[in-house]
Amino acid sequence: MTRPLLLCLLALNGPLSAQWAESDQARAGALFEEALGNGECYERLRELTKGIGHRLSGSPEADAAMAWGAEVLAANGADSVFVMPVIVPSWTRGTLCSASCEEMPLRVTALGGSDPTPGDSALEAPCVVVRGIEELAELPRDQTEGRIILFNRPMDPLLINTGSAYGGAVDQRGRGAIAAAQAGGVAALVRSMTHAYDTVPHTGAMYYADTVPRVPAAAISTVDARLLAQHIEADPSNRVSLAMNCRDLGEREQGNVIGVLRGSERPHEIIALGGHLDSWDIGEGAHDDGAGVVHTLEALRLLRAIGYQPRHTLHFVLFINEENGNRGGKAYAAAYADANERVVGAMESDAGGLVPRGFSIDAELQEVEWLQSLLPFLEPYGLNSSRQGWAGVDISPLKEHTPRPVLIGLMPDGQRYFDYHHSARDVFENVHKRELELGAASCALMIMLLDQHL
Ligand SMILES: [Zn+2]
Repeated sequence: MTRPLLLCLLALNGPLSAQWAESDQARAGALFEEALGNGECYERLRELTKGIGHRLSGSPEADAAMAWGAEVLAANGADSVFVMPVIVPSWTRGTLCSASCEEMPLRVTALGGSDPTPGDSALEAPCVVVRGIEELAELPRDQTEGRIILFNRPMDPLLINTGSAYGGAVDQRGRGAIAAAQAGGVAALVRSMTHAYDTVPHTGAMYYADTVPRVPAAAISTVDARLLAQHIEADPSNRVSLAMNCRDLGEREQGNVIGVLRGSERPHEIIALGGHLDSWDIGEGAHDDGAGVVHTLEALRLLRAIGYQPRHTLHFVLFINEENGNRGGKAYAAAYADANERVVGAMESDAGGLVPRGFSIDAELQEVEWLQSLLPFLEPYGLNSSRQGWAGVDISPLKEHTPRPVLIGLMPDGQRYFDYHHSARDVFENVHKRELELGAASCALMIMLLDQHL
């Protein structure tokens, strides 16, 4: 079938000069057939999550995941595999994290990077409930000093884009401990970042400032946040107890694991696809970001399986330390900032193994228009939406490069993602085989399109 009208439209200005070719059509079909008919990513995810488990930066499990990733990259057909060394932080949750309000136990877990409670023993104090950092700053000091601060602003349920709802609430997790200490508080409890009304706390990164005392910080489940707020409202003299023995273990060397397919026409120009190998240390990091890891590994296998010969050099990158520092992403960008080899495009899968809906793009206008022009052709694969904006944490430092690479994010359906995110529910059993396979094929397809049209 020929499309003369479309062929007339192929000549956009700029680097992305073609729209969609018959060869793209054939390759897209072959990639999806291979992914759905002979897919290996689901079993790879089982190996990663059930064989190795969660894998926080600096942990022995993250070492094991790096070795496993290098093996699979080689098995899936990389021309070469190398490790880019990265110094990462190391922190452990320890064995103790408990909280209660008077006689009522509260389901909590330490936020990543938190200090323990003093002497690893229970810290007990009255509690004040706020909607967020701004509300806390407005309270008179005698209402906050010596208290445990409960940050209880939910993710906005009215936003369709759950990532935006997360972005609108996560400041209290990242900076809650700093704000609590500035107000004279002794600890921070942060309502879990999820739309789900559930009893599992969702952890995540938190930070301290050099000039502010360090107070312990923990996530509390959404059910318990509500119960605690009701208890405090009923009797503001009710006291909360919190005990944690987490530890900062310093730093150590791990690294990004990178598989290479050498380009035939532009070997010094790189197009990267990646996910992050590290995960939080509760659950199994199945959606976040085991899915992105196996999408990356499987995309390599799929391109090999259909006999695809890339024009640019392709990097399949398993990043380290996305969750608590993004040092892997920063190291990768720094390595190609002014080298002979430069990154011209990068894609990330770090939004879960859920059914793919399309792609986000962080790029110049004409590149955004290029992606939009592809949507009619991507529609048969269910990839019918594009959004201009955030593409991924690991690849975001590449934005500093000149010229700026095209950055693309796989955009799966996000409505259930935060049910699992950073919690004990982020396990292999909550990833759907077929949805995962569709994501892998979508990644392979977009990398192939970038390679053809950049
Ligand atoms: Zn992630």
